[in-house]
Parts: sequence; C-alpha cells; structure tokens
Amino acid sequence: MERRDFIKGIGLGALAAGLGKSVRAQEARAPGEAPGKAAEKAPPSAGDDFKITFLGTSHGNPTLERFNSSTLLEFGGKKYLIDAGEPVSALLVRQRISPADIDGIFITYPHGDHMGGLVMQFVQMASFRRHDKDKYQDRRCQVLLPGDDVKKSIADTMRILRFGRGIPDYCDAIGFGDGVIFEDGGLRVTAIGNDHMKRRADGSARAYSFLFEGAGKRIVFSGDLSNTFDFPYAVIEPGLDLIVCELVHFPVKLVVEGLRDKAIKHGCFQHASNHYCDVVHGKERFAAFSKQLTFPAELVDDGTVRTV
Ligand SMILES: [Zn+2]
Repeated sequence: MERRDFIKGIGLGALAAGLGKSVRAQEARAPGEAPGKAAEKAPPSAGDDFKITFLGTSHGNPTLERFNSSTLLEFGGKKYLIDAGEPVSALLVRQRISPADIDGIFITYPHGDHMGGLVMQFVQMASFRRHDKDKYQDRRCQVLLPGDDVKKSIADTMRILRFGRGIPDYCDAIGFGDGVIFEDGGLRVTAIGNDHMKRRADGSARAYSFLFEGAGKRIVFSGDLSNTFDFPYAVIEPGLDLIVCELVHFPVKLVVEGLRDKAIKHGCFQHASNHYCDVVHGKERFAAFSKQLTFPAELVDDGTVRTV
C-alpha cells in the first residue's frame, strides 16, 4: 500500500470506527458551517470526564512491554499530549487517532524520554493535515515547552533535520515557567517547577509537574521529580481526583510518608523502576508498596485507560 493511501486509510478508519465521543464531536458540524468551527467547543459542563490513555509508561529506556513517556488526555472534546517520548505519533495511530487531531502538547521537561518523539509528532501532524486540508485548515495546536531555550532547540532540530523551517506555523509554541500556562474551554493547566533538573542561573525550573483542572476535577501529573520526592504538595488541597506519578527517582518510603492522609482519591503510578515493572515479581512488589498508601493506587501499563 502506498504511503498516501495508508495515511488516508488510517484517517477514514478512525472515523468509521467511531472512536469515542471526542472524535465524533470533532467531526460534527452544522451544514454550511466552516470546517474550523468544529474545533470550537462549548465549555465543558460539570459532567465532563477526563479520559486518560497511557501511551508510554517506561522509566526512561524502552522495555519489551513499555515505551517512553507519553500520555493522551481527552477533555471537553479536545485531545492533549502530556510528554512526547518516542514513538508517540505511532502510538496515536495505533489508537486510531490522527496525530493532526492533537489540540495541545505539554512537555514536563527536556529529556529524550519525555520529548524524543516530538519532532516526529510534528512531522506526522503535517502529513495527516496534508491529506485532509479542509478539516484542518483552521485547526491549531498549542505546544507548551518548559522554557524559551527549549522552544528554540526544538525549532533548530526541525531545521537541522530538514523538517521544514522550524516548529510548524499552525502550532502556537510557548516557552513557559511557573504558574497558569493554559486556559481553554474550561481546562486550566498550571505548571509547578521542581528540582529534577538543575535550575537555570536565574532560578527558573527546567522540570515541571502539571495540575489539570476542569469540570470541578483536579489531576496532577508529577513529571519526573528530584531524589527528595518534591511532589507539588501545595496544590493537593482542596483535593485531587487523581495523581499520575513517577516511581523511579527516589526511595518509595518518601512517597508513603509524603502523601500519607492527603486528599487524594486515586494514584496511577508509571515511569517505575524495573523492580516494579518486572513481569514475574513486579505486581507483588507494587502491591507491597501500595498497601502502605492511604489511597488506592495502581501501576499502569502502556494502553491502560482511565476515566476521571
Ligand atoms: Zn524520565
């Protein structure tokens, strides 16, 4: 099959399969309405859910069962990526989602296992857009990168690899720091710097955790943390519906002590060491850890889907 047909086939296959309400919502538009209007959604209501699909859950190196860090978050009819470790664009295709349908990308920090797939995500976004120009002509993608220096590096990489003149012009690329970095359609994202990476000379962080808030729900993605487990404790109150937390850079007793009796409803742990990902003993080892926590927790796999 020619590449062009393959790309078209994926797009049509995704629609035909009716892949969930957000995909259907993006296709629905009134007769005569401009294609781009389909991307403008009403603000999410109190009943809206966050759907989280864990694409890659490895600890930094790919394993037989796990790819590098990337998570798909769907909310209010839009699709977002948290981190873009490789092979994120391929994993989207395997979810029957066009890489061009991503509305926003949030990168926690500039290491290869968290953004090594970003260039190919841009390349595939361009390919899929080319094959359905009407659908995508007014669509934009917000790209939130941890600092202007990271934004410049990605743009340079695109040029060096001859993937266009930099970050695609239909992307709004922003280098962020601490604070609210995104607000759209009822979703608010706050970045909280941590000390996983050495800070810049001006004291600004290079690595971040994210708080996602929408429809009355609150979720923290830890990103990678320091060896002191510098979880963003300050944003736990008034309660978190979910934490998505790494489990490799610190003694786990710091997790047990730090999160004890905190207002957390559920924990999804990922980016865990081989000690927990071991296919023979990992489950029992994780169970021994999680029973010390004061909230229910699980070790998620590539392909795990959770709704909050
Ligand atoms: Zn990492």
